[in-house]
Amino acid sequence: MLRLHPYEYHRPETVDEAIALLVEHSGDVMPIAGGTDLVPNMKHKLFTPGHLVSLRGIAEMQDIAEDDDGFTIGATASLDRVARDARALRALPSLARACSLVSGPQLRRMGTIGGNVCLDTRCTYYNQTLFWRKALGYCLKKDGTACHVVKGGTRCVAAHSADTATALLPLEAELRIVGPDGERTTPITAFFTSDGVWNRRMEPGELLVSIRVPRPASNTRHSFQKLRARDSIDFPMLNLAVRVDFSEDHLVADLQMVASAMGSYPRRLGKMGVVAAGRWLTAELIDQLAQEAFRQCHPLDNMPIDAEWRRAMVPVLVRRALSEITD
Ligand SMILES: Cc1cc2nc3c(=O)[nH]c(=O)nc-3n(C[C@H](O)[C@H](O)[C@H](O)COP(=O)(O)OP(=O)(O)OC[C@H]3O[C@@H](n4cnc5c(N)ncnc54)[C@H](O)[C@@H]3O)c2cc1C
Ligand code: SF4
Repeated sequence: MLRLHPYEYHRPETVDEAIALLVEHSGDVMPIAGGTDLVPNMKHKLFTPGHLVSLRGIAEMQDIAEDDDGFTIGATASLDRVARDARALRALPSLARACSLVSGPQLRRMGTIGGNVCLDTRCTYYNQTLFWRKALGYCLKKDGTACHVVKGGTRCVAAHSADTATALLPLEAELRIVGPDGERTTPITAFFTSDGVWNRRMEPGELLVSIRVPRPASNTRHSFQKLRARDSIDFPMLNLAVRVDFSEDHLVADLQMVASAMGSYPRRLGKMGVVAAGRWLTAELIDQLAQEAFRQCHPLDNMPIDAEWRRAMVPVLVRRALSEITD
């Protein structure tokens, strides 16, 4: 049986109280929202904080609010709530879909959108018990010096595996982050780094408080696609989020594609807008974009699914996304 280590549990009621606790126990503390990722990781001894600061009692982090310009989604809104929110379903269907495809129903009720954006990266050689990792001699991300995915590699390339973050990139979401030095807003496009050990531009004492999603223009369409082994529960083997802006005469004005679950951050694919701009979204163009995405995507052996097969599925996801948009 995998047991949890002893820790002290704090339940603040305001963001300020939470930050004060994070500062007071600095170096030995982590925030916990739904706990659906952190608790299994603690059982695997990937994190062993002496203090947990629960975010669930903080009222201002729970709301989903709509105004003329868009939505403000509290970081502790559950994935299930966002997935079922009628306003989100109407205006942000790709985000609602991403939320609805995370893990399974029980975990979506506990798991939060903020916890998803802040999700730790994942790898075959990391998301294992202490016994398993010790037998292998650990790895760069935790307690070791070598990477088992890229032999001789000096940088961790564990997979960014958060579905909602991928969907939030083409939506141009902004993250409201609060910490001991005050508050800042950062575009989600600038939030992730390529370092799989800690792939977020967020200091340990900081909290993601809410996510601002601008209302998409009426001539814009979004799609979110996910590849996984079992639709009932699994993490992504590939993620794809696509946004197409149409001109008044229904030609493509711009096209963005974000792919993830390959390396340590969701990556915007290059050239897609240049290839598509000024053209009809025909089967021929969709084929061309699918091939371009295949050329640019190189999944790694960081999960127990054949990387070549995952790569071969990239054009399939592109076709699915763009067909959904043209429907
Ligand atoms: C069997 C299984 C299947 C899963 N499948 C998927 C899947 O398909 N797709 C997917 O994306 N995820 C999946 N998950 C992971 C997880 O359930 C979700 O990512 C969930 O959204 C995490 O949210 P949480 O509130 O439970 O986060 P927690 O577990 O509470 O926290 C996750 C991390 O984020 C930090 N954190 C949480 N909230 C904040 C905040 N507001 N500010 C700063 N840091 C914060 C925590 O310290 C921790 O490091 C799966 C998990 C399991 C166990
Ligand atoms: S990518 Fe390499 S360093 Fe990172 S978790 Fe996997 S094996 Fe460890």
